[in-house]
Amino acid sequence: MNRVRSLILGEDTTMAVQKLGRNTPQRRVILHELRQLKSHPTAAELYAVVRKRLPRVSLGTIYRNLEVLNEDGMIHKLEFAGSETRFDGLLEQHDHVRCTECGRIEDIFLRDSALAPARPTELAGFAVTGHRLEYFGVCPDCRQRKSPAGSLGN
Ligand SMILES: [Zn+2]
Ligand SMILES: [Zn+2]
Repeated sequence: MNRVRSLILGEDTTMAVQKLGRNTPQRRVILHELRQLKSHPTAAELYAVVRKRLPRVSLGTIYRNLEVLNEDGMIHKLEFAGSETRFDGLLEQHDHVRCTECGRIEDIFLRDSALAPARPTELAGFAVTGHRLEYFGVCPDCRQRKSPAGSLGN
């Protein structure tokens, strides 16, 4: 009995419980669904998806969990000027291009491209730890809609 008690009250158990508190089943579902989506959804869009699996979840819960996941570095929060905050489950270094017509956001991987941005380690006395680059333009669908002839030329 004593052994059982010390196991239950032991430090490892306490740590496990704390970790569990940090990673609730709800949060796991939210993270899983966000990673499935390639659309960089808003909290409300993600809510619509998560609700299919967790019918009792609230939008407030989604917001709170997204904040915690962001703080924990499990997801990225995308804040573009003049548009709603979006969330990204893809942690690999990448940049984004956003459609100014419909708001769609696509991932771009410039790492090996000639367009890859310079990676200075120091700028204006700052030790640079990362960068955020946002391209914007008109997506293929919107270009198509704008020029019904189907020409993608300028
Ligand atoms: Zn578009
Ligand atoms: Zn992305």
